[in-house]
Amino acid sequence: MMERRLLDVALPGAVWRPSPNFGPRADGTSIDILVLHYTDMKSAEAAIDLLCDPASNVSCHYVVAEDGVITQLVAERDRAWHAGVSSWHGEGDINSRSIGIEIANRGHDHGYPDFPDVQIAAVIALACDICARRGIRPERILAHSDIAPDRKRDPGEKFPWKHLAAAGVGHFVEPEPIRGGRFFSPGESGAPIEALQAMLALYGYPLQITGTYDLATEQVVTAFQRHFRPARVDGIADSSTIATLHRLGRALAERSPGAAGATR
Ligand SMILES: [Zn+2]
Repeated sequence: MMERRLLDVALPGAVWRPSPNFGPRADGTSIDILVLHYTDMKSAEAAIDLLCDPASNVSCHYVVAEDGVITQLVAERDRAWHAGVSSWHGEGDINSRSIGIEIANRGHDHGYPDFPDVQIAAVIALACDICARRGIRPERILAHSDIAPDRKRDPGEKFPWKHLAAAGVGHFVEPEPIRGGRFFSPGESGAPIEALQAMLALYGYPLQITGTYDLATEQVVTAFQRHFRPARVDGIADSSTIATLHRLGRALAERSPGAAGATR
């Protein structure tokens, strides 16, 4: 039975280290999001131990170690527990509709090292394979910080989204250079703030359109910067951030005419 199950679920080339932390996906959901994380642990092995510990209540489908070794913990058909409270395009329960990849990295609190090339090459190969098999669209490959901007910052601004997009994984637009000019920051109110919030929400971020640059707006702008304008991550909507957001909106509208911001 175990052998049969293994054949059914293990990705060729991945080490199979089953975690008990999974359940069934919610009825009626289809897998259409890929969530990328960093482990925030001192080693891939420590992260795998935690993700396999029944007391931790966390898991993911794959862990990619610094040396590019891929370990699979949960079968793709099952619901792993990686996204937590999160939302995209108004949909919650991201765990039911996603596959989660944890990328080994010590994280912001412990020096936040660069992601090694061999590790990124493995992430690209894995993501290409998953997206091709599952039909996951490039704009549905997201950071944990995108779907939970109020509490997450992984995989962070060092994650090479541009490099991934060049290899056919995910989407990216060239960020507008940072210059002076008008900017919006916490506490401001008015129509321009409302327009900014509307654009961020149209892209998919969980954000209420209040017309005030509140904490949630600052957190979403920060998440956007980590993904699309990584040169400065400060939560302030400067002209470079806004121009980059416009550019992203245009790129997505061109990809699916008449359906900018639509999920499918
Ligand atoms: Zn995460």
